[in-house]
Parts: sequence; C-alpha cells; structure tokens
Amino acid sequence: MQLQGVVRSIRRRALSELRSHGKFAAWRERDFLHGRSVPAGVIVLSTRGCAWALRGGCTMCGYVYDSSRGVSQAEVLRQFKEGVARLGDVAYLKVFNSGSFFDSDEIAPETRREIYRIVNTLGVERLQVESRPEYISREVLEEATSLLEPELEVGIGLESTSDYVREVCINKGFTLKEFRRALRLCRGAGARVKAYLLIKPPFLTEAEAVEDAVRSGTKAARLGVDRLSFNPVNVQRGTLVEELFKKREYRPPWLWSVVAVVRRVKEHVGIPVVCSPSGAGNRRGAHNCGRCDSRILSAIRSFSATQEIEHLHGLDCECMRSWREELALEVFLR
Ligand code: SF4
Ligand SMILES: [Zn+2]
Repeated sequence: MQLQGVVRSIRRRALSELRSHGKFAAWRERDFLHGRSVPAGVIVLSTRGCAWALRGGCTMCGYVYDSSRGVSQAEVLRQFKEGVARLGDVAYLKVFNSGSFFDSDEIAPETRREIYRIVNTLGVERLQVESRPEYISREVLEEATSLLEPELEVGIGLESTSDYVREVCINKGFTLKEFRRALRLCRGAGARVKAYLLIKPPFLTEAEAVEDAVRSGTKAARLGVDRLSFNPVNVQRGTLVEELFKKREYRPPWLWSVVAVVRRVKEHVGIPVVCSPSGAGNRRGAHNCGRCDSRILSAIRSFSATQEIEHLHGLDCECMRSWREELALEVFLR
C-alpha cells in the first residue's frame, strides 16, 4: 500500500475512536528575540484540525486528535482571549492551531482580524503563527502585516530540505519548491519565516537522521529563513510512527543526536537556532540513558533561550559511547 493509504487508514481508525473534544492550552516559556532572552507565551487553539491530517497527514503527527470537530469561530476566539488572559505580559507571542493559521476553514478571516486587533493591545514585539505553504498568499500576508503593529513571523513545517525525506518518510504533501514560494511571499510582505525541521523521521537510521537535519538546517538558512526550530520526533498516538514504535521498528532520537545537530548547524548559520523537544526524557520522546536526560535537556533549553553555544559544551555521560556505537553500527543491524 502507498504511504498515503497507510496513514489514511491509521488516521480513520484513530479518529473514529475519538470521544472527546480537544482542549486549548497556554503556557509561558523563554525564547530568544532581538538579541536577548525574553518571556514568551504559547497559545494552542483547538480548531477543526489540519486539513492535511484529516486526509491522512504526516507520519509522526497526532495533533489532529486534539482538534474539535464542529467548533465555532466564536469558540476559537474565546480560547484565544482566555489564553491571552492566562499568559500575562510576554514579548514574543506564539499562536498555534496545530494546523494552518491562514486556512480559513480553521480560522476564519474575521477571527484572524480580531486576533490581530487584540494582539495590538498587548504590547508584544512579535506574533508568530504557523501555516502550510498552500495557505500562504500575498493577500493574507499583506492583510496581517498591515493590521498588525508587532512583527509577524510565520512558522512553516519544512521538516527536511530533501524532497525524498519529506515525501517518503514524512508524507508531508508539499515540495521544497512550494516552500520557497511561500518563503518569497513572506519576505515580500515583510514577514519573517521560521522553518521547523524534524530530527529523525521514520525509516532513517540515527546517523542518516543527524546528517539530514544538519544538511536541512544549513540549506534552509541559505534559502533565507530567519530562524530554525528543530523538532526531535516524539511518538504520538494514532500515527504511523507509533505503529512502528510498537513493533520496535522505531526509536526516537538520542538527545546526543539533538545536541550534535544543534551544535553543528549553529556553527554554520548566522540566525537563531532553537529546539524545545516535546515529550523528551521518556521512551516516547528524544532520550538518552535516563540518568543524564534532564541535564542535557536543560542545556538544550538554555542554549535555545540565549543562543550561547557554551551551554552545549562539556556535556558528558557514559551513554555517549552507546550512542556513538549506534551511529556506527545501526546500518549493519538493520
Ligand atoms: S505536521 Fe502539520 S501539516 Fe503535518 S499533519 Fe501535523 S499539523 Fe498537519
Ligand atoms: Zn546518559
């Protein structure tokens, strides 16, 4: 069966078992903005869900199970207002909807405009949203940048600059050419672009995954993105990655791989490189031996918030040897 057929049947099964409506979430964190570490806030809206995910979607993504079918725009706006109230003062506001902010079926044009109006009252320096490239047009960007007082940043899940990896391992459903078109439009409208890159999609060895992520980070920076965000894969329910994980055919990346990717890319690019591994430190997320995980994670977080590479120097643990062996031998063990 083709990859699209496989992910579609996994998705149908998991969606049919879904009982509850998704809930929105909001939390504070620290991030790097305008040369310094700043308070940032994240609001995750529960909308009708990513259209691509509802048709099958990406092999590692289970966010669609947090969506709310039949949710009204009034409810989406209510979630946003409640999120703003919970966050308090932040300099960098990120509004995610686990799909596409510019997809009018998820967030209607009038809801977007009301969100811009409220954002203008908050005194934030930057608003970040995220979108697949097919929803990014000159019209939606120009409307956003003309209505918004803070800077606009658009996050795009490029995942890899390799069309092969993006299609065969991730089933992402768009090409590098389409990403470049969206990047050009964003830059033309005065918006910044943050590229999300995946660390260890399925079907790659640990060593192949590290090389793909490093290559993708340096190439995306050359293409002109303003910020790189590395996402180590975590095993989400109702995904192809979870099926492979249950058959012991997939292990999330080592935290050592994450450190190696971030360090190597940062050496070659002049833009912020951030990484906030979700679900890390346990079997379903990026992890090491268990003894060093929290220390390594906190080093990655400190680096992301400050961009000071020293946080990633001098890290050590006995498990580094096992990681190195896996990098060298996995290809033969397959
Ligand atoms: S990763 Fe993004 S594009 Fe892919 S299914 Fe999830 S939300 Fe949709
Ligand atoms: Zn360890």
